[in-house]
Amino acid sequence: MSRIAHEMNEKFADASWQERHAVTRVDQLREWMDDTDSTLMRDIELGLARAPMAMRITPYVLNLIDWSNFLQDPIRKQFIPVGSEMLPSHPLLQMDSLHEQESSPIDGFVHRYQDKALLLATDRCPVYCRYCTRSYSVGLDTQSFFKKRAPPFQSRWNTILAYLRATPVIADVVVSGGDCFRLKPSRLLTIGKGLLSVPSIRRVRFATKGLAVLPMKVTSDHEWTDALVSISNAGRDQGVEISFHTHFNHPLEVTDYTIAAADLLFKRGIRMRNQSVLMAGVNDDPEVLKQLVKKLSDLHIQPYYVYSCDLVDGLEHMRCSIRLACQIEKALRGITAGYNTPLFVVDTPGGGGKRDVHSFEHYDNQTGVAVYQAPAVRPGQLFTYPDPLQSLSPEAQAAWLDPQRANRMLSDAIEAARAKLMAV
Ligand code: SF4
Repeated sequence: MSRIAHEMNEKFADASWQERHAVTRVDQLREWMDDTDSTLMRDIELGLARAPMAMRITPYVLNLIDWSNFLQDPIRKQFIPVGSEMLPSHPLLQMDSLHEQESSPIDGFVHRYQDKALLLATDRCPVYCRYCTRSYSVGLDTQSFFKKRAPPFQSRWNTILAYLRATPVIADVVVSGGDCFRLKPSRLLTIGKGLLSVPSIRRVRFATKGLAVLPMKVTSDHEWTDALVSISNAGRDQGVEISFHTHFNHPLEVTDYTIAAADLLFKRGIRMRNQSVLMAGVNDDPEVLKQLVKKLSDLHIQPYYVYSCDLVDGLEHMRCSIRLACQIEKALRGITAGYNTPLFVVDTPGGGGKRDVHSFEHYDNQTGVAVYQAPAVRPGQLFTYPDPLQSLSPEAQAAWLDPQRANRMLSDAIEAARAKLMAV
């Protein structure tokens, strides 16, 4: 444990202290580094200048980083960009790569799947992750990105409730953002009670990275935890499942603080599931994910999904190919009970929704294009996910940088997928 953590041992377990001492500027990182390497500091500044996510890291997370192995550390890689490691983005990159705004009948409310909706309740998080899918709207503006924010929650909540009441096909609502750890207990209760007042809603999921980056919130912010538990109990009484979706990516994120928080939630009847993101240098190793799966299972957090990393600016070096995702999934399946084995998915760029990573109609690992269909979401359409350029041959990389050849590679992949579908 670092010097600061020793001195602050008691305060360290207090979520409000963690929030107040979150690091948001490069100069604040100096306190955590044994040697202040000015070249590295400049490199971090460079990374932040290019990143779509601002920096915000709790002391708890900073304490998980091995500062003597800063560049290789799997926790650091998730939160602190370093300019020299970044690669040019894939030519198919778009902000809002999942086209969430297109599927939003109300700002900050996504209705893509027939019976499921996504409520973006806040645009703030206890930490900001470099790989955030919602980098188009979450967190503070950065030097190179202005966020497209939803209007304040109060101004849209009644409209959202009216939409839900008028759309009884929606049985499942994910409350995300941003992160529900940043919702005040009163706001959490407003949302929980509001959703429970809609008769057609049978499931509500609260999504948060919080348990992985600020677990002491659960054990020290009693008002917040009581609010969550009271929603869960009220839901159970009326036959609605309330669950808590966490976001652990690496086994080092599971600490004694996590164990205490997960134990408390389990004993108070909260159902928990985990969604990870597959990232090079973080968890692109079956052994790392095996450890994570085992640790989460022991905490009664069901390992639910491993996502292929979405296309996010400044993150090309951390994406993995579809081939690698399939290989890791194969290595993982069978290590434990099936219900605790995560499904590897691709959230298809363009809005096709999540597809089992293996379910491509066509995959060319020379050009790195995988083609998926999503009949229950957008029937008749095909969606493509591109492997990261650095996983391809130099010839294929050069071809992607030529717009004409890039278009041809895409249309060839789509044609091959259509031909396979026609032949079935
Ligand atoms: S906590 Fe979630 S919403 Fe917030 S930055 Fe991380 S991935 Fe994005």
